[in-house]
Amino acid sequence: MKAVVCTDFERAEVREVPTPSPGPEEVLIAVDRVQLSVTECLLYRGERVAHYESVATRLAEGDARLFGHEFCGRIVEAGEAVDGFDVGDRVYAPEKIRCGSCPYCRSGRSGLCPETTSVGYDRPGALAEYVRLPTGPLRRLPEGVSDAEGAALQPMASATLCAVDAEVGPGDTVAVLGTGVMGFQCGALASSFGAEEVYAVDVRDRSLGIAADCGLTPVDARAVDPVETIREATDGVGPDVVFEAVGGDQDHASEGEDPIAWAFDLVRRGGTVVQVGHISGELSVTPRVARSKAIRWLNPRKGVVPLSPRTDTSELAARRVASGAVPIGEYVTHELPGLESFEEAVEITVEKGRHDALGPAQLVVGDG
Ligand SMILES: [Zn+2]
Repeated sequence: MKAVVCTDFERAEVREVPTPSPGPEEVLIAVDRVQLSVTECLLYRGERVAHYESVATRLAEGDARLFGHEFCGRIVEAGEAVDGFDVGDRVYAPEKIRCGSCPYCRSGRSGLCPETTSVGYDRPGALAEYVRLPTGPLRRLPEGVSDAEGAALQPMASATLCAVDAEVGPGDTVAVLGTGVMGFQCGALASSFGAEEVYAVDVRDRSLGIAADCGLTPVDARAVDPVETIREATDGVGPDVVFEAVGGDQDHASEGEDPIAWAFDLVRRGGTVVQVGHISGELSVTPRVARSKAIRWLNPRKGVVPLSPRTDTSELAARRVASGAVPIGEYVTHELPGLESFEEAVEITVEKGRHDALGPAQLVVGDG
């Protein structure tokens, strides 16, 4: 099969490699689509973000099959002990591979397992014609989810967990700071969970337009002070929940112009600030500010969490996409042919503004 092989940071080529055989509890998936994450692209360029150590170690050991955890495909072979999945199922991978033996896993809290195996970092991912995986991280794609949406569904499953953990409810007022992929999804989900009003703050016409089309209230931070504007619109009280979905380099949580400082300033007393994006490096905070307003600063869980005996956050995410409530396909703006487009996909995904991209670039791998 063909696969992207990384020979160093910023060096990759498409090579012929052996097609893997699934173990007894594994399946072989023919990859239809794969999209890159920003983290993967930054790692490829050698930046010290999450997973840097494991990527650097693998590259130091020699050529490495890296990246590709956001994908969709079809099961073409199943090991003899596989239960619950069949050849022909369309799947994606919203869950981590849990260790199964740590105190968290043994006590029914596997979502907090510190010993996860990450697809694309610790073992080969879907930047190939086929990927071999255990079934633990996989979920089936429902009818009505396209390949483009399927490859973009893993971040949507994470966004669903953000909105669930935020406990957004009927009548709530919500603000989203930054309507990139996950910020937009958190806003649209909050609306579908019954929020009365959702303010979507951004500086790009296109994402503000998509937010408005979904019934969110766009706030153009180039034209107005978003904190003042939303505070005024909420009778001086502020939103019940604020999603900070910009992340990146920020310095101070309670002073200045960083989005996290806006979130702390804007949220109502006793409200919730949800950390959606990863803030890199160190962040200063004056704890008194958060304490005196009784702010709940929430770091959501990851992976997949059960919601009832019949559904979990990954299934809810897929159904919200299939129903059109959260049109994640709007953010798939660049679809490139074949694994050979990997370098171009990295460039587009990192330099979205320059390429007029809203979400990560996707590679069309299979014939669908
Ligand atoms: Zn564990």
